[in-house]
Amino acid sequence: MDDGRDGRVGEAIDDDTVDGPAGDGPDVRTDHLTGATTVVVGSRQGRPNLPADGCPFCVGGLEAPEPYEVRAFPNRWPALGDGRCEVVLYTPDHHQTFWGLGVDGARRVVELWAERTRVLGGRDDVDYVLVFENRGPEVGATIAHPHGQIYAYDRVPPTPLRALLDGVLRPDAVAEDLVVGRAGRWVAWVPEAATWPYEVRIAPVDPVGALSDPGCDLDGFARILVDVLARLDQRFDSPMPYMLWIHQRPTDGGEWPDARVCVFVTPFLRAPGTPRFVAAAELGGGIFFNPVVPEAAAAELRELPGART
Ligand SMILES: [Zn+2]
Repeated sequence: MDDGRDGRVGEAIDDDTVDGPAGDGPDVRTDHLTGATTVVVGSRQGRPNLPADGCPFCVGGLEAPEPYEVRAFPNRWPALGDGRCEVVLYTPDHHQTFWGLGVDGARRVVELWAERTRVLGGRDDVDYVLVFENRGPEVGATIAHPHGQIYAYDRVPPTPLRALLDGVLRPDAVAEDLVVGRAGRWVAWVPEAATWPYEVRIAPVDPVGALSDPGCDLDGFARILVDVLARLDQRFDSPMPYMLWIHQRPTDGGEWPDARVCVFVTPFLRAPGTPRFVAAAELGGGIFFNPVVPEAAAAELRELPGART
């Protein structure tokens, strides 16, 4: 689904953990007709949908033997080899939401995202670090415990590359009727040509290329993220399933002076209990149809209480 803009559908490479893979490694193939690149990972087909013996992310569980506040560790069921896939635990509280962490808890998460981006991006064999989250079983999350993931690619993947080459990210110039909220140096808005109902982008007004850059306002980032994710849950009075990912500067050693941090949040519902499915004409034609007017989506989200931070 998160590749829908490319006219591709991959397996929603979902969640992870427990018991380890069978051994055959990733096999990268490119379709000669569509140009789509697919990593074939046969070992992941055997991964469990749900752990049989309790939550592996709760303290004392398989992946969290010691008490923690936030935690990152290698994924036992990596979609990419060589330690390129990590799981990030947001809190030891199994039933918490991201926005329920509050600004202090969210700040710990974003600091860990920044640190892991810096560490993984510092490897010679890593050209791009993608922080992301699949939230809810509707988008493939098999474990309810609040967590996200990180992939460290050996190349700059096509979607962020195209954004770098073609995109002009100007959060400071977003029309006011599309703005959902602001916090510190950050703006959250619904894109004018949103593909997804209630799609939100979040970016700093400053020219910051990575969360670990010295000038990055992580406190403002924690506040805006908590607020936006609260609004999405409030929109239909239930946990909003979503996919979230963060574009940052490639770590291939290039300059990339125009690279900007940008968070993409793609909710899965267009109405209470009603998924926004991708239709055949959309994948077949490469032109999408959004039933929710972006300016109306922004107004609806803006008028909710949010996190009141
Ligand atoms: Zn748990």
